[in-house]
Amino acid sequence: MSEPIALYLRLSAADGEGGESGSIANQRAFLHRWAAENGYRVVAEFQDDGYTGTDFDRPGFQRLMAQLQSGRIRCFATTDLSRLGRNCGQALTLVEETFQRLGVRYIAVNDGYDTQTASRESLDPSVFKFLLNELYAKDCSAKVLRAKRTLQREGKFLGGQAPYGYRIDPADKYHLLPEEDTAPVVQRIYRLFLAGETLGRIARRLEDEGIPPPAARRAGREGGRWSTATLRRILTLPTYRGALTQHVTEMTSYKVHTRRAVPPEQWVVCENAHPPLVSGEEFRQVQNLLGSRRYAGQKAEHPLSGLVFCAGCGARMYPHRVGRYCYFICGTYARDPARCTAHRLREDLLEQLVAGQLRPLLQAAADPARLAACLQHQLCPDRPDPARLQARLDRLEAQRRQAYADRLEGLIGAGEYAAAAARLQRKEEELRRRWQTAGQAPSGPSLDWLTRRVECLLALEQPDRPLLGQLLRGIFVGENGRVELRLAFSGPKGETENSITF
Ligand SMILES: [Zn+2]
Repeated sequence: MSEPIALYLRLSAADGEGGESGSIANQRAFLHRWAAENGYRVVAEFQDDGYTGTDFDRPGFQRLMAQLQSGRIRCFATTDLSRLGRNCGQALTLVEETFQRLGVRYIAVNDGYDTQTASRESLDPSVFKFLLNELYAKDCSAKVLRAKRTLQREGKFLGGQAPYGYRIDPADKYHLLPEEDTAPVVQRIYRLFLAGETLGRIARRLEDEGIPPPAARRAGREGGRWSTATLRRILTLPTYRGALTQHVTEMTSYKVHTRRAVPPEQWVVCENAHPPLVSGEEFRQVQNLLGSRRYAGQKAEHPLSGLVFCAGCGARMYPHRVGRYCYFICGTYARDPARCTAHRLREDLLEQLVAGQLRPLLQAAADPARLAACLQHQLCPDRPDPARLQARLDRLEAQRRQAYADRLEGLIGAGEYAAAAARLQRKEEELRRRWQTAGQAPSGPSLDWLTRRVECLLALEQPDRPLLGQLLRGIFVGENGRVELRLAFSGPKGETENSITF
């Protein structure tokens, strides 16, 4: 009487699992031979071709699990443990708990592992292979990665989807060609930006014309909103000047398939890999404009950035380069010219105006040391936050209760418990000490440091963003160049005067 058995086959495209039992066909032939020789009758086959073993989100495996859970299948086999999965924690839970609970028998033929004969008291030695499998998956992803980088450096496109503006060459899947519909859009974005248009206005124009942004286009949707982040990505990707740029994002973990942005200096770039959409010169000009300190870049902060507001609508104003000069322009207007006016003010003039107004004010206010003392109580960024300390103390208390409960249940030994308790005690004492001193001495910048900064500011050689931020609540720009400074401290003439208009 032969026992009915199901087979599960898996092949991962990416992790290069080859060898004798590698291919699906080989796995199938091997298992059928083994079943016949050992008195099993194969009743069903489940397979996942091209799925990595690092998670269990595979259709074939899910179908198998459904059959196991309904009890229609009670026994199944794989060639080895790694076919089941490479995520150690989840695989162990399956084998040790789920299969036991369901009364399912699982056999990993090559590993000689069988849940029916595996010891229930302790971990079966072969189960430790899961641990090795997990290590292997890591090692393997590192190897695959190295091979991938080499190909990328040679200018081979390895992404699944061509970047916006391009399509994959039907004659060579590693090569890109301009796409008829979207390449002209990319070219227009560059031209508009070089003509002095802001990202916000370019976005609106594309939206008005019903041109779908990249994500919407991929999803087959009509229209949609263009974000300035998308435009910035298009304007900075060297791929558009013909230099294939890859490794722009990367997987944060081989287990959880999430991605993060990679800093540009780590991008893998191969020059002259495909036809460019913009010239090298155009691309360079765009980078200059985008990277300019005066273009509200994220890296070098403009000394007045975040401090300039439109007096008309209250929105922030942003620096934009138009021709030779850089202007602050109302953010509302940049997005939609119908909703406000530009309130355009040349950035270098604004800087001079602000410095010119602040200088005498500060000099009249006090000697640098007095002003620094005034400022000090506003400037305590490093001061510990009592609420956060209390939260940490609460967490320590919870850890201590947990350790105690574990000790009572015999999960940890007396020595371990004593060590843990002592460690938690020390942490708590240290936190309490910090909490006490936090209430007394402010740990902000020293008076000396502040005095030097104020002296520097009084000379106003170099507007200093952090200090300006402390001195000013905002610079409000009206039409016709009217500017109001709202001060964050009382003016020299008393409490009431905290704004000046000029
Ligand atoms: Zn405005």
